[in-house]
Amino acid sequence: MRARTLLDAHCHLQEINIIERVLEEANRAGVTDFICNGIQENDWNQVLELNIINSRIIPCIGIHPWYINSAIDGWEERMEALLASSNKIYVGEIGLDHYKSKLAPKMLQEDFFRRQIRIALKYRRLMSIHCVSAFGKVIKILRQEMKNSRVPFIMHSYEGPWEMTQELLAHFPNEVMFSLSMVSVWKAKHQSVIERIPLTNILIETDSPSQIIKEMIPEPLEEEKPQNFPKYLPLVFSQLCRIKNSSEEETAEQLYHNFQKILPDAHV
Ligand SMILES: [Zn+2]
Repeated sequence: MRARTLLDAHCHLQEINIIERVLEEANRAGVTDFICNGIQENDWNQVLELNIINSRIIPCIGIHPWYINSAIDGWEERMEALLASSNKIYVGEIGLDHYKSKLAPKMLQEDFFRRQIRIALKYRRLMSIHCVSAFGKVIKILRQEMKNSRVPFIMHSYEGPWEMTQELLAHFPNEVMFSLSMVSVWKAKHQSVIERIPLTNILIETDSPSQIIKEMIPEPLEEEKPQNFPKYLPLVFSQLCRIKNSSEEETAEQLYHNFQKILPDAHV
């Protein structure tokens, strides 16, 4: 059997300064691959440069719902040009955040989300989706936009209720991956949903440098606002094994398979 490897399905390594050390620590923890998401046009090049430094950093470019107001005319053409330049660039982080609708009105968020889904479909690329307080809307949009063709997608740092989870599984059994972060596996109400999600539709992530749950970190943390790093992914993994009551070997093997299924061309 292969040594256990874990794959970080969603992070923002472009926001971390000491990248070499962070990658070394991740590797020591058995974390070998990283789906790295842009959040606005400003950081797309940084994300793509990380992929040049290390091909196991898989680049996604997109406009996150919080950063829509900073988008500059012509972003769609520039996004398409980058996607056309390589079939190993994916789409993310995109989506809806109704909790933060002050940052961008809901209608505008929806417009950007739909436009980016259409681009992902045109270039047949995986999408990484942010969804907060908008599950019904996200499902409706995905169903409308993916009527004729589909691409795999990651529901990142998943915290959806069972009703929505079931709906996503029913409509997109082969496309949806629920990616679990510390935040997803920490609360009992989410754990009861995770128990029921088939392991064939699960990935794990850190969302590094955010979404840390201090109580899950065994070592003392000095900073008041500590950052999250890919080296902490095994903590999400162990918690997932506990929730699913599944062995580490079996779970790691399935997560690896899931990652390969949605990203057959990436270096996994
Ligand atoms: Zn993110």
